[in-house]
Amino acid sequence: MSQISLRFPLLLAAAIFAWFPVATWPQPVPQESKAEFHAQQLRPDLHVLTGGGGNVAVWSGPDGIVLVDDSLEQLSPALLEAVARIAPGAVRFVVNTHWHPDHTGGNERIGRAGGVLLAHDNVRARMREPQFVEAYELDVPASPEAALPIITFADAVALHLNGDQLLASHVVAAHTDGDLVVSWEEANVVHVGDVFYNGAYPFIDLSSGGSLAGMVAAIELVLARTDGRTIVIPGHGAVSNRAELAAYRDMLVAVGRRVRELIEQGRSEDEILAARPTEEFDERYGKGPMNPDTFVRILYRDLTGRR
Ligand SMILES: [Zn+2]
Repeated sequence: MSQISLRFPLLLAAAIFAWFPVATWPQPVPQESKAEFHAQQLRPDLHVLTGGGGNVAVWSGPDGIVLVDDSLEQLSPALLEAVARIAPGAVRFVVNTHWHPDHTGGNERIGRAGGVLLAHDNVRARMREPQFVEAYELDVPASPEAALPIITFADAVALHLNGDQLLASHVVAAHTDGDLVVSWEEANVVHVGDVFYNGAYPFIDLSSGGSLAGMVAAIELVLARTDGRTIVIPGHGAVSNRAELAAYRDMLVAVGRRVRELIEQGRSEDEILAARPTEEFDERYGKGPMNPDTFVRILYRDLTGRR
């Protein structure tokens, strides 16, 4: 196990953890009451809540409230208060883009209140067992029964509500092995989960079945289904658009190609880091909590198959 684990110095690990962030994923937040979500209206019936864990989409209308992702567990009361300020009533459905605790943390509270939880098959499978996130050497306990998605699927599901259609499509082996991209047909909005960290290098969770190739393929799928007017909600970071998502794909492809070439030249992991394969993109993406070296180490492990 130690042979394949990412032996990051502790401080480095703490720095990249900040993206989740370290103090709140998945440990309780002492300053819970200070948690504040910021609501942004995207379309008449669609809002996004930022400021907690992953970005939460709130779809409301005459047929009820649907959330895409529900942030961190300890922020559940604040999340539901923020949702209530947008629309009255209980949450009817939650769609989880993947299993990570900063995207499924509200499941238990909403599930106990009668909300119906939907996700890919692998999300339920992972949440019901303890998980080990290797890159952060982080143990995540199994989730209680009430937090588990009760409707799961292998490929795609559609919800016909509020005068629109939500389509949740599985993308294979991307950020994890259970990712969904979720689009609204009429509203022309898509929530892409953690296949897109706007303004930062992504975390590709190899130990949860993620891969660079899957990240790129997932973004290609979204690009094929969207246009210049589509609003793109990333898993983390500011609300975005198709052009920025395409640039993100270009970055992933370019850095992946460089790392692969260096591997084929027989360079060691440290030599590849020293060659700075992300340099061209560091100004735009390298200032987030996922620093360039950690991103390259993850790519190295992915592309050499050393998981
Ligand atoms: Zn994630």
